[in-house]
Amino acid sequence: MKILKIDHIGIAVNSIESGKKFWSDVLGLDFEGAETVEAQKVKTAFFPVGGSEVELLESTAPDGPIAKYIEKKGEGIQHIAFRVDDIENSLAELKQKGVRLIDETPRIGAGGAKIAFLHPKATSGVLVELCER
Ligand code: ZN
Repeated sequence: MKILKIDHIGIAVNSIESGKKFWSDVLGLDFEGAETVEAQKVKTAFFPVGGSEVELLESTAPDGPIAKYIEKKGEGIQHIAFRVDDIENSLAELKQKGVRLIDETPRIGAGGAKIAFLHPKATSGVLVELCER
């Protein structure tokens, strides 16, 4: 597998509208609009920073993964996403190395990217996302 860069850092927020006040109004990052990913019960907004991005995540349902995360840990960094050159190949390699995966096959995330999560038990407690775009 080949990791190309940190694609984005995912931050769980109660509201993109209020999160935006800091990330865009205060820090001056560009807000490029929000997108809802129904399958994951999440609304996301990306803010480009150099070659990477900050991703704000707001839950669209009380039983969604982001709502559960905030309930347990509060707002904050929820995942780190690495861009890979070939996600299927990367997942196969990690599986072969015995790494516990949340997604054995990629799903489609925001912006049409192919994404997959590794289990935090396999990564020193960090939710790691692989993405290919
Ligand atoms: Zn992400």
